[in-house]
Amino acid sequence: MKRLLSLLLASVLLLSGCSVNPETLSFECMDTFMQLSVYGDKKTAEAVRDEILRLDALFNANEPDSQVGKLNQSGFVEDADVFSVLEGALKVCQSTDGALDPSVYPLVEEWGFISRDFHIPGKATIDELLQHVDYTKIALNFNRVYIPEKMKLDLGAVAKGYAADKAKALLAKNEVKSAILNLGGTVAAVGAKPDGSDWKVGISDPGSTGGYFATVSLHDKIVATSGSYERYFEQDGKRYCHILDPKTGMSADNGVVSVSIISDNGLYCDALSTALFVMGAEKAQAYWKTQQDLPPFDYILLDDTGKVYVTAGVELTLTDKEKYEVVEVSDK
Ligand code: AMP
Ligand code: MG
Repeated sequence: MKRLLSLLLASVLLLSGCSVNPETLSFECMDTFMQLSVYGDKKTAEAVRDEILRLDALFNANEPDSQVGKLNQSGFVEDADVFSVLEGALKVCQSTDGALDPSVYPLVEEWGFISRDFHIPGKATIDELLQHVDYTKIALNFNRVYIPEKMKLDLGAVAKGYAADKAKALLAKNEVKSAILNLGGTVAAVGAKPDGSDWKVGISDPGSTGGYFATVSLHDKIVATSGSYERYFEQDGKRYCHILDPKTGMSADNGVVSVSIISDNGLYCDALSTALFVMGAEKAQAYWKTQQDLPPFDYILLDDTGKVYVTAGVELTLTDKEKYEVVEVSDK
């Protein structure tokens, strides 16, 4: 609930200062809170909301009748959206050497991140479940998706980004030039503000509900954030967050607090925010400098010592300069 409130406050702050009133819709979806502010007609804003709700109904792995639910039960599904989102996700799985892997789902379940009955699984259980984690065994063929027995997929790491892309396409089709869509932390800044200036999007402050530690200036870009504060439990003074390392089956634990990715492509933003979170600051930096599989992107990575790694293309303003140390990441 805290997170829902923080997302709502952040987006309200974002909108102040605009002269024309947008069509604004708020709703819960994909296990989070969403707010759409569209400088266009009401019908278009509602069509965007309905499209996101439609995708949620297809992708919800916890719903046996959803397309992903059916895939997980039978090993097969034919669906254009499930196919497309996996096609994009698999590129990121390959490029990041499996730091992103949608087949980690049985472990996500075992840790209790779905039921919220949290616990640290024993080594034998982790080893057993890890045997079925392997994105290379997901087969795609003309809208058809096949997975092996005992494998189960979860599109939670990429669904909001894919939804942001679909929403953007729908807005373009309806000739909307300006909108800000906050899909539970994946924010699509469409065009510029109605007055022509850039959108300012807040990046959540892990230490303060509703606050943000930095803002980024965006023009027609998407920013997706993965944070250890989003869903976690604590045991013996240690925090275990909802992002797992698919190689070990353990909760990612490398000092990263949050990763935000900025690019034109929502799916890649969302997928990479999860993947770079798993990699940690050092590997993320090396990956960013060398990767050539995906279009270029920018990132902001906050670690638990207060270091903020920022790539050269980001226009970032820290809310409290004293509290953080900026480390510039460049390809030079
Ligand atoms: P995000 O908030 O976009 O980083 O996505 C996190 C969600 O994706 C989690 O709640 C899990 O359902 C799932 N997940 C966790 N770890 C991974 C991973 N390494 N690769 C793919 N999906 C993951
Ligand atoms: Mg993600």
